[in-house]
Amino acid sequence: MVKKQKIVVIGAGPVGSLAALYAASRGNDVEIYELRGDLRDPSTTPLNFTKSINLALSERGLNAMRHAGQPKLIDHVKAATIPMRGRMIHGKKPNGQLYEEAQDYDIHGRAILAIDRGGLNKRLLDILEEMPNVTFFFNHKLTGADFNKNKAWFEVKDGTSSGEKGQRAREIEIDFNFMIGADGAHSAVRYHLMKYTRMDYEQQYIDTLWCEFQIQPKENPEDDSLMSKFRISPNHLHIWPGKKFMFIAIPSDDGTFTCTLFAPAEFYTFLESDPSGAHIPDFFDTYFPGVTDLIPPRPIDLLLSLQPPPPPHQHQMQALPLQFLGRYRDAAHAMVPFYGQGMNAGLEDVRILFDILDKHARMDEETVDHDPASARERALDEYSRVRVQDAHAINDLALQNYVEMRASVLSLSYRFRKWLEEQ
Ligand code: FAD
Repeated sequence: MVKKQKIVVIGAGPVGSLAALYAASRGNDVEIYELRGDLRDPSTTPLNFTKSINLALSERGLNAMRHAGQPKLIDHVKAATIPMRGRMIHGKKPNGQLYEEAQDYDIHGRAILAIDRGGLNKRLLDILEEMPNVTFFFNHKLTGADFNKNKAWFEVKDGTSSGEKGQRAREIEIDFNFMIGADGAHSAVRYHLMKYTRMDYEQQYIDTLWCEFQIQPKENPEDDSLMSKFRISPNHLHIWPGKKFMFIAIPSDDGTFTCTLFAPAEFYTFLESDPSGAHIPDFFDTYFPGVTDLIPPRPIDLLLSLQPPPPPHQHQMQALPLQFLGRYRDAAHAMVPFYGQGMNAGLEDVRILFDILDKHARMDEETVDHDPASARERALDEYSRVRVQDAHAINDLALQNYVEMRASVLSLSYRFRKWLEEQ
């Protein structure tokens, strides 16, 4: 029987929420500390980061949820998804005609799922809310941690949602047996952990910025079915490859598409070159043919609203493969979003972490002196050995997939067309 421990999770995003679910279903006392207010409260100010409205959920993430000890979780989650069975490449023929080319992901028809990130997060929070051994602490920002004494400090903003001005802050101190850092790309847990262990840390910015658009649903008074609302195929991840640029669209279960433009930083110089924005539709028609018809009013206003250009570190993607040395372990790793695996890999981290913790806890049960702390230490050693390589691999794949999506898909299509011409 595993001894009851106080497990503190920092960050109530999708990954922190799943980690809390795993910890709580093992009978531990779980406390979740979240910088922002409750996501389910409409007055909570979302992070900039959460601008990405929907994302691709794959088997990696689903499998982690399947093992969370909540049989209905998968059904609930899947019910709010749209299967994307392949990618749809958009382009223009030499004669100016628009074309679409569907490329299936799997010969057996298996699909990745488009899901609303906020909806998934809320579902996980709802389940946690019903568990008697889970306590939420919203508007609590981790400001310090001592991993020798197992103490942590938080800045608490009472009574208001995070981000509001004029709120009074106080500090609290807590203790814990085990802290899980799920506080995102700029993890404060990782920052404090680095003071207690010899931990290599690497961060690379890539020269890409992103911003989001929406394709609105079609109005059709004679047919109010969901399928009639989509302006382009709902069962594909749409890509307009622009070689140096890329525009993508992912379906949502209300008939809209969330679109993301990825472009190098020099794009902002181009935006500034004509403050009227008159050159932007031409740019879109050249690189992303057909998009301006899908996003009325034309994307000029949205793009112009991004000016002046953000300072170098805002809106940029980070890749920070980590290496782990010493007594404490850190699983936090951010990655570029081009492989659609950031959240999926984070959810998988949780499954693997708890598999290994369980294994060492069982081995500890068989010893005379039960010592959950040293069993956990051995588990974290193993976790680091197993997971660091995985984190590096998925980061590399994600970076490679950016080239694949914005350029290589074109050469594939081109090769395919050539082959057809030769038949
Ligand atoms: P987050 O969602 O960042 O949550 C971290 C939480 O910690 C936040 O709620 C924050 O408020 C809180 N926090 C931060 N600091 C503190 C502190 N000091 N104290 C307390 N709390 C704190 N992933 C996919 O799997 N598929 C995709 O298709 C995909 N597409 C993407 C597209 C874009 C454009 C981007 C930017 C990302 C995409 N991702 C995708 C990645 C995905 O969004 C992230 O991997 C995912 O949100 C990570 O979840 P998380 O719970 O680890 O962190």
